[in-house]
Amino acid sequence: MALKQYLLIPGPTPVPPEVLSAMSHPMINHRSSDFKTVMTEVTEGLKWSYQTKNDVYILTASGTGAMEAAIINTLSPGDKVLIVNIGAFGSRFVKIAKAYGLNIDEIKVERGRSADPKLIEQKLKEDKSKEIKAVIFQQNETSTGVLNDVKSIAAAVADHGALSIVDAVSGLLTADLKTDEWGLDVVASGSQKAFMVPPGLSFVSMSEKAWKAYGSSKMPKFYFDLGAAKKFAATGETPWTPCLSIAFGLQVSFKMLKSEGLENIFKRHAKLSQAVRAGVKALGFGLLADDSCASKAVTAVVPPAGIDAEALRKACREQFGVVLAGGQEDLKGKIFRIGHLGYADKMDVVTAFSALEIVGSQMGAKIKMGSSIAAVEEIIK
Ligand SMILES: *Cc1c(COP(=O)(O)O)cnc(C)c1O
Repeated sequence: MALKQYLLIPGPTPVPPEVLSAMSHPMINHRSSDFKTVMTEVTEGLKWSYQTKNDVYILTASGTGAMEAAIINTLSPGDKVLIVNIGAFGSRFVKIAKAYGLNIDEIKVERGRSADPKLIEQKLKEDKSKEIKAVIFQQNETSTGVLNDVKSIAAAVADHGALSIVDAVSGLLTADLKTDEWGLDVVASGSQKAFMVPPGLSFVSMSEKAWKAYGSSKMPKFYFDLGAAKKFAATGETPWTPCLSIAFGLQVSFKMLKSEGLENIFKRHAKLSQAVRAGVKALGFGLLADDSCASKAVTAVVPPAGIDAEALRKACREQFGVVLAGGQEDLKGKIFRIGHLGYADKMDVVTAFSALEIVGSQMGAKIKMGSSIAAVEEIIK
């Protein structure tokens, strides 16, 4: 068994030591002025990350909670929604929408491809009677390593007048997302991805238009009622006891992120994505997504015929402590995924490819030792 662990999965992501130590802060009253200061600082950090002046609410839940909150706070049973499904998280939106009795129109896209904004635009143009109340999609589809063109999709949605509901859980802070400038009505994200803190909190932004929709929403809601969140946010509180520890961690991670700067954070993620893709090509392995829609957060890799993705992951973990993610849904066993978001740096990528070269060779792939490392180094040097 390897002594040390190198976590390269797309969430939960590694947490910096200074954040972990901040999280060991003793519990305080969540209705005290001390915690109000924490909440105010964290909320401000969230607005900076979202590039928004809209309110951003903090929920104690994993990212799926924020996805559910987005839907139940803006829609009513029977409403027609257009769900753009490019992977497992698109399918999750379909499942949530079904659970709440929405009338679903689905655009299902071949796995490994991004959504075509023109196709969405055309679908919305055909909806002359404006039956579609919301267009629901991912910024970054974690299961396939694909980044959607959020700006173009949002422009098509704005022309039509429907709400845009975006799952930016794994994409936020890895690629540009301008909530206000692009007119995104509801944006969901989660703590355990690029925010560099553990799972437990998730976040939702609400535009003015989204609040208008809230006013007429007949969906049942209680724990995730953003009306309650709004009321309590006015005094720096949440309706229910929040996960204080992660809020303490976020105070420190936002300091780190802000000193790096948004543009540099995006550049770092783009560079890591580029390095991983160069390494995969040099290994002779396949990439599920095309360069043109490649995620900056996670890369989905197709091993050559005869090499089982699950066996390869197991050997990387057992021999070298390199933890990679598997495929989801139909892609299970066919791909593995390398996460490179959050507290991820160039040397994490080098480490991963060293393990992949050795394990790949053991399993019979024709790999020239050092070839993928050289390709990675050409990008990161
Ligand atoms: C991680 C993730 C989520 C949330 O998953 P949870 O397990 O509920 O935190 C939602 N959407 C995407 C795209 C994700 O990557």
